[in-house]
Amino acid sequence: MQFNFFMPTKVYFGTNCAAQNAAEFVRWGKKAFVVTGRNSARISGALGDIAGVLDSQGILWELFDQIEENPTLAAVEAGGEAARSFKPDMIIAIGGGSPLDAAKAIAVLAVNAISARALYDGGFAAPPLPILAIPTTAGTGSEVTQYSILTDDERQTKRSFSGPDIFPKAAFLDARYTQSQSAHVAVNSAVDALSHAIEGYLSKRSTLVSDCLALEAIRAFGLARHSLAAGRLSLADREALLYVSLLGGVVIAQTATTAVHALGYSLTYFHNVPHGRANGLLLGEYLAFNAAAVPDKVSNILAALGLETIDELKALMTRLLPGEETYTEQEVREFAAIAGKAPNTANTPRQPSIDELQQILRASLPVKKLS
Ligand code: NAP
Ligand code: FE
Repeated sequence: MQFNFFMPTKVYFGTNCAAQNAAEFVRWGKKAFVVTGRNSARISGALGDIAGVLDSQGILWELFDQIEENPTLAAVEAGGEAARSFKPDMIIAIGGGSPLDAAKAIAVLAVNAISARALYDGGFAAPPLPILAIPTTAGTGSEVTQYSILTDDERQTKRSFSGPDIFPKAAFLDARYTQSQSAHVAVNSAVDALSHAIEGYLSKRSTLVSDCLALEAIRAFGLARHSLAAGRLSLADREALLYVSLLGGVVIAQTATTAVHALGYSLTYFHNVPHGRANGLLLGEYLAFNAAAVPDKVSNILAALGLETIDELKALMTRLLPGEETYTEQEVREFAAIAGKAPNTANTPRQPSIDELQQILRASLPVKKLS
């Protein structure tokens, strides 16, 4: 038995957990640079709560609310520049995975006057500022990971940079903040969390501890799946999904993601498919592909979900993620080539060839031949 486990983020979970743990903010200094998307932090109520905590503790703060979905290198460069002139002691990230990931990049750029592209090189002269994270979606688990996924227009894909010091120092998970998500965002992000648990469980880098957390996440998703599909989520359901998201994040912090994420990035980059939906469309075929290599693990996933067959999982995804985008045969070849080069593809238990990546895409998506 041999494994490592590292997850240095202090997790506070529950209604009003930020206000109840105001001392955690004071620990990190007197000036905070708050990174958010354009609306989600405000409408979720999270920004109001955090502003109340900061003001009550005498922490000076500045808001940067310019982060859009799938943050680009240019967006985090603008945030980095604003942070450098404000000179904060800490970065507070509020939002879905997009603002959380952007905040990790800004935490580095706030103290290193380097280009955003240089984030991919690592080895920063000054260590990143401490990050405190408040998720408003239940999906990415970015509040407990060392990854920041940024859109690289030059390479026409999403790429992550990572490092142990961009794990948030603390995460505050309050499911009330996910109540304002649209039904689409709620489902897409929940499916992302499930995808983290499934991919992490199958990853070549999985360990006994990560497997235990992954199966628990899959089980909790299975219990919530009917409410999710019906679009009727109580606060208890939302807490359960935030728990799934948290566990999924802890899992991929150990195991990384696999070919599903690598293939999904092209669906997002070229067709604007939301990240979780992109993963969900591919999950069924991905399980079918891997079943030959890891049959017991695939059976355990289905059992934890409360399902019997991969076809039932595909039907669940169709129910959760209705609608279709059509792809060309040319795109299938290009997306498979991009995923073939992505580092996370190498974590897939049954190593897919480029042809097999194409087959997974063709079987998962409506594909039309080029005329
Ligand atoms: P997101 O891209 O952060 O947000 C999607 C949309 O939902 C935005 O329009 C956002 O509004 C809105 N929104 C978020 N929370 C809301 C709320 N409570 N109420 C109303 N609207 C809300 O979505 P996400 O799925 O959480 O994040 C996806 C990103 O995370 C992708 O870039 C993906 O690659 C990344 N990711 C990172 C990791 C990791 O480990 N770091 C893992 C998986 C995925 P605003 O624009 O106003 O914010
Ligand atoms: Fe993801």
